[in-house]
Amino acid sequence: MLEELKQKVYEANMELPAHGLVTYTWGNVSGIDRKTNLFVIKPSGVPYEDLKPSDMVVMNLNGEKVEGDFNPSSDTPTHLELYKQFCEIGGIVHTHSPWATSWAQASRAIPCYGTTHADYFYGEIPCARSLTTAEIEGEYEKNTGLAIIEAFKEKNPIYVPGVLCANHGPFAWGTDAAQAVHNAVVLEEVAKMAYRAEHLQSTLKAAPQHLQDKHFFRKHGENAYYGQV
Ligand code: 13P
Repeated sequence: MLEELKQKVYEANMELPAHGLVTYTWGNVSGIDRKTNLFVIKPSGVPYEDLKPSDMVVMNLNGEKVEGDFNPSSDTPTHLELYKQFCEIGGIVHTHSPWATSWAQASRAIPCYGTTHADYFYGEIPCARSLTTAEIEGEYEKNTGLAIIEAFKEKNPIYVPGVLCANHGPFAWGTDAAQAVHNAVVLEEVAKMAYRAEHLQSTLKAAPQHLQDKHFFRKHGENAYYGQV
């Protein structure tokens, strides 16, 4: 079932090591079919070099495995909460990519210091709060998703397609699995650039709002004009 989606989610997963975003098995990608409300996700702990499209696990939004020989990613309940809450998204990525994870470990949102960031993320990339002991000892991965959702109370997940989880690492998303990986790659680059910019200029401020608006909205929304028609 969902063979085409399995292939796409497999290919998106393989983009993570290709872009240097994962070490060993530190990451996962999923993609959802909104018609059936089933999503396909990487199996937990399977090395990327061994991964096959047929290894992908099919889940429903009740958290039940529908098809697959392997256990799904340990982060599956986080993906599930995000799919339920952010109805417009079609793919999700989690990694421990080093630059984004450095900001997450520092529990810092990434300010928008320039147009590379503004082309993809409107405003800062937020950092979801640390979980309480009860949240960690309880349904940890589900609570990670709920903390992300809490961080987006005042934010549009389409305008800000990624987040840092304090003391943990980044999640990114997009219209499908490939787009989610694209945004995860950009998030990592932006995290690296922001770190360097702060070290070059200790009194650094966010880029002017009108420049952020210009760059974000020339690529997104009804008046976008970037690229080809
Ligand atoms: P899984 O192999 O279970 O997907 O875990 C990867 C990971 O990065 C955990 O945070």
